[in-house]
Amino acid sequence: MLPVRYVWYSQYMSTNPFDLYEEFVHKIAKRDNLDETITQQLLTPDAVHKEVFSIKRDSGESESIEVYRVQFSNARGPYKGGIRFHPEAHLDEVKTLAALMAVKTSVVNIPMGGGKGGAVVDTKQHSAGEIEQIARGWMHSMQNVVGVDKDIPAPDVYTNSQIMSYMLDEYERLHGYSSPGVITGKPLVLGGSQGRSVATSLGGVFIIEQLCAKLHKKPPETTVAIQGFGNAGYHAARILAERGYKIIAVSDSGGGISTMHGLDIEHVQSVKQEHGSVTAVDGVEHVSNAELLELECDILIPAALGDVITSENASKIRADIIIELANGPLTKEASAMLDKDTHVVPDVLANAGGVTVSYFEWVQNRTGYYWDEDEIFTRLEKIMHAAFEDVWTTAKEESVTLREAAYIVGLRRIIESLRLRGRRT
Ligand code: NAD
Repeated sequence: MLPVRYVWYSQYMSTNPFDLYEEFVHKIAKRDNLDETITQQLLTPDAVHKEVFSIKRDSGESESIEVYRVQFSNARGPYKGGIRFHPEAHLDEVKTLAALMAVKTSVVNIPMGGGKGGAVVDTKQHSAGEIEQIARGWMHSMQNVVGVDKDIPAPDVYTNSQIMSYMLDEYERLHGYSSPGVITGKPLVLGGSQGRSVATSLGGVFIIEQLCAKLHKKPPETTVAIQGFGNAGYHAARILAERGYKIIAVSDSGGGISTMHGLDIEHVQSVKQEHGSVTAVDGVEHVSNAELLELECDILIPAALGDVITSENASKIRADIIIELANGPLTKEASAMLDKDTHVVPDVLANAGGVTVSYFEWVQNRTGYYWDEDEIFTRLEKIMHAAFEDVWTTAKEESVTLREAAYIVGLRRIIESLRLRGRRT
């Protein structure tokens, strides 16, 4: 294994979402008769890094900031995954998210592993200058943990392209050479990729198109409800509407709107920009976020928060298809209730368009040659199509749900890489 510093943490809560990942690892271990060494490698991060540094607040006081990076399986390539700034970021969560990134990069078959980072910080309580110090401090702490061939972070909750720019600058300043591929999600002028802002949604749309073709559903007769109207939700609504799907409901944190006639998405977006919420649109019905999930529709797209479909409301879901654009919108219990009879496309496939274009950014940075948007979208479509076909075929051949099939596809590629590397004993 890698020469790393382990900081182990003590307990997991019983509701830890790592349970779900663990369950799939044990299932595949049984199904494929895996030896204990491989199984343990699938269940254990390669490294968990934790550091503390201090920043000087505008008030003159100093504040300690705790930062993490978890690296999960580099058998297929360097670690890849975002950094979140959150007051409740903790290692258990970061570890789970890193494991899911390893599965996600493997499902779409890009040559990368899984990673996730965090800083325990409430960005709303800090000035722009303090946030810059935190971004630089994170990179200073992790300067030898990350690297263009080692571990490539990206934005996540409450981090953005500006924060990535500070981190890139700090890394290059410390190491003394240009290395744009050390981090993705950068602004275009610093080596970011065309198409990144729509990548997650467009990737999800490619999956929807393939699934609808399999189920003989045609766009004009296919109704869609979307929870969340941010980056993922808005672009998914816009692209689906452009392709003829009928968007019957959308929502944001202020609530939801619905009409069976289909929403004019550009109008909804302009009202949201002007008034702050989709609920300011006139001439539509108002629904709560909970009601939106239970609407009669063909496709339900949770594109906001995790754990919104639980054992409480799962039996009330009427959609035939659920596309998990958000990470973890179904709890483990809801997944057990819905995955068999509903076509639930799991997050590790449905929202993998984002990490795929991050991978394109890294490829472009490494070669120093930049692609236009058409090139990005064509390549994204190819990758998402292949991933969907792999998952669909596995589900049919092995008589499992799409979620289990995605984990089988992802984990088997990692297992094969571990075996070929001789990491068996
Ligand atoms: P965002 O911050 O741009 O948008 C989030 C949306 O959710 C906003 O419209 C917000 O109003 C809404 N929201 C917040 N609280 C809500 C509530 N209680 N009920 C309903 N809606 C609520 O975030 P995003 O980038 O669109 O990400 C959305 C989800 O997609 C997250 O789970 C994220 O992890 C996942 N995801 C995003 C990407 C990406 O590239 N953007 C990639 C992979 C996964």
